[in-house]
Amino acid sequence: MHSPEIAERLLDWYHAGRRVLPWRESRDPYHIWVSEIMLQQTRVEAVKPYYDRFLKALPTIADLAKAEEESLLKLWEGLGYYNRVRNLQKAACIIMEQYDGQMPADPDALLKLPGIGSYTAGAVASIAFGIKAPAVDGNVMRVFARLDADPEDILLPAHKRRIEAELLEIMPADAPGDLNQALMELGAMVCLPNGAPKCDTCPLQSLCQAYVKGTMTEYPVKKPKAKRTIEKMTVFLLESENRLVIRKRPAKGLLAGMYEFPHQEGFLSKKEAVEYVRSLGIEPVQVKPIAESKHIFTHKEWHMKGFSVKIDEIRLAEALENDRLTAEFLIAKEEIEKKYPIPSAFHAFTEYLQMQQGSAALKS
Ligand code: SF4
Repeated sequence: MHSPEIAERLLDWYHAGRRVLPWRESRDPYHIWVSEIMLQQTRVEAVKPYYDRFLKALPTIADLAKAEEESLLKLWEGLGYYNRVRNLQKAACIIMEQYDGQMPADPDALLKLPGIGSYTAGAVASIAFGIKAPAVDGNVMRVFARLDADPEDILLPAHKRRIEAELLEIMPADAPGDLNQALMELGAMVCLPNGAPKCDTCPLQSLCQAYVKGTMTEYPVKKPKAKRTIEKMTVFLLESENRLVIRKRPAKGLLAGMYEFPHQEGFLSKKEAVEYVRSLGIEPVQVKPIAESKHIFTHKEWHMKGFSVKIDEIRLAEALENDRLTAEFLIAKEEIEKKYPIPSAFHAFTEYLQMQQGSAALKS
């Protein structure tokens, strides 16, 4: 049982010094929803330009529902976790069909929409509609774990449900959205992860059991996660004049529907790389190894080596015509920058090619 004083102190602190963020200036549920989805797994500073661009391109739920898949992925390029934007669109279609284009206010109805979990449902219902609904994410759980010096594993689903119930008990009816945001702000600015809370500036200091005992760095308690699998691959930048070979990824699975550079499993030697290129029916003019890179997903890591391969345009055209390269396209670099979403997993290679991708493309 928590004291209502926690809510009072948090609200006073929040109102005195909250950060001004673009989505905080809006009560439009669509805006709150988009920002909350973008902020999952992504830092506030990185989200800002994406948020503005997304809403400029798709100002309403109706626009989102009817957007082309490729332009949608392009708007998200660089943010990663692309299922987030696919689910945004699926949910937008349901809102158009079942709710006449208006986002539902009820947290239970929100929870039924694709990509909306209890945290996002609570955030949208409380911030946009003023409904008492808790929004509990990892930041909020960390704050509560330290406040209570709680030895329970915060990764257990039952733990989250308990914190949601406890937060609901202290949530004032006239400021549910502000309390949720105050807690998010405290987790982001003061009660920081990785053993670095700024307790000297924390409004909850005297109520915090971990602070009183000097054990802040022991919380939250998390059981170690399973190790990620490692996939090694060799990536080919097949270049002809100013054009590059790219191909579309499968419609399902990791990075579904995005574009990528052709690659092969394992680390190939230069000789094997040449053999692979020839197996496509293309004669390489020059083959040059490029720097290694690594990309970390939730459950796996890609360890990548690459080869820059200059190819003969005529032989390449023949290979494409003869269906040796069935799924591949030869596209001008500028076209790729504008239209073809390439995941940030390939950032080292787009950088090597001096291509503007993701957030860099936003600035151009
Ligand atoms: Fe977190 Fe320190 Fe505040 Fe406790 S006193 S809630 S550990 S910042």
